[in-house]
Amino acid sequence: MKKYDVAVVGGCAAGLTAAISAKRKNPQLNIVIIEKLPRIGKKILATGNGRCNLTNINAVASDYCNPDFVSDVFEKYPPQKVIGFFESMGLLTFADSEGRVYPRSNMASSVLDTLRFELEKTGVDVICDTPVSQVRKINGGFEINGNIFCKRAVISTGGKASPSQGSDGSGYLLAKQLGHSVTPLYPALVPLTVRNNVRPLKGVRARNVSLTLTDGKLLKKTNGELLFTDNGISGIAAMELAAQTEKSLFGAKEKTFTDIDFLPDMSVEELTEYLFKIKNIKGNCDIDMLFSGVLPKAIGTEICKAVSLYKNERTLSRLSREEIVSAAQKAKCFRLEVTGTKGFENAQVTSGGIPVSEISSETMESLLCKGLYFAGEIIDVDADCGGFNLQWAFASGLLAGENIG
Ligand SMILES: Cc1cc2nc3c(=O)[nH]c(=O)nc-3n(C[C@H](O)[C@H](O)[C@H](O)COP(=O)(O)OP(=O)(O)OC[C@H]3O[C@@H](n4cnc5c(N)ncnc54)[C@H](O)[C@@H]3O)c2cc1C
Repeated sequence: MKKYDVAVVGGCAAGLTAAISAKRKNPQLNIVIIEKLPRIGKKILATGNGRCNLTNINAVASDYCNPDFVSDVFEKYPPQKVIGFFESMGLLTFADSEGRVYPRSNMASSVLDTLRFELEKTGVDVICDTPVSQVRKINGGFEINGNIFCKRAVISTGGKASPSQGSDGSGYLLAKQLGHSVTPLYPALVPLTVRNNVRPLKGVRARNVSLTLTDGKLLKKTNGELLFTDNGISGIAAMELAAQTEKSLFGAKEKTFTDIDFLPDMSVEELTEYLFKIKNIKGNCDIDMLFSGVLPKAIGTEICKAVSLYKNERTLSRLSREEIVSAAQKAKCFRLEVTGTKGFENAQVTSGGIPVSEISSETMESLLCKGLYFAGEIIDVDADCGGFNLQWAFASGLLAGENIG
């Protein structure tokens, strides 16, 4: 039986950070990271489209579910401290206009290399190709897979999202073995599927739209980019509705809709006035041209189809006042019936996890099992796109490591 002071189960954003933080606090500790995949940190390489949006300078607890819990963690590790942690290892970063922080190299591999080098430098052991399937509490510590003993254990196995990058939900079973519960789990930050035929719009992108998700009541509003797929919608504005969509569809009596406002910066009246101008300027043009000055043509065509403007091969000059008003209204509220999401396979994040009521927000130690710590996405904390989820993984990893150290 190999013996360690600390074993970190799951070697990605939260686990690597926890190991480094513990070792920095107490260099005497004998620490091992146990990772299921052949290499540590695979998911980091996929983040931010290969650029790794590692935090957001504007991230605050209210951006997350369970904000009270997050607030305690961010009091100690706000985004600036996470940036400082990376700077202390030589990684420089920059923030874009929306506060999203990236490595100066614009390459996720720089983030992973930085963490890997620090692990080597500080002497943390790494065991790869080793899925952990059993953690048992035994006298004075934990037995892992029957052949590793540690005095303290960190579970940082992520959630169920994007299992091809290692996070297959097995961490929840480990937590359950040690007496923890798990809240209902939903895929988050993932494209939606819709009942309507959106195939004619496949590949069409609309910037700065506003989406409203409802199921008889308002569930969530988002703004940003929208991308049509062959059977649904993607892009940040759509993906940020995924968790609420899944929750709403689970045992739902009401249908779930998303209303797209293609032009949120114009009122229906302003848009109507604008469309009248277009009717006057382009009177001899086909109906297709009605929205061509403000929206991708394919979207304009679908709006015109939806309010039945294509009759008798008319030109714009033939449109009535009522028809123009209803086209403006449709562009401001284009309704799609949502049928689901593209699931955990394609999700960036898991909504749900180990309940925060079972973990100390001061230390990240389990309140049910002494010596056991959690960090990262396995905990019931998630947020929208923009660097918020890695901020959580790094901040909770740093806090867990510091307290173990
Ligand atoms: C494509 C994509 C892009 C993303 N982009 C961003 C972004 O730009 N910014 C952002 O903030 N967030 C982003 N996210 C979300 C972010 O990557 C995660 O929230 C974050 O990685 C969670 O960190 P974690 O360490 O808790 O879990 P994970 O990163 O999921 O790591 C868990 C690790 O544990 C290992 N493991 C799992 N089970 C076991 C087991 N039983 N035994 C041993 N090892 C195990 C896994 O192999 C994995 O290495 C993105 C996610 C995806 C999928």
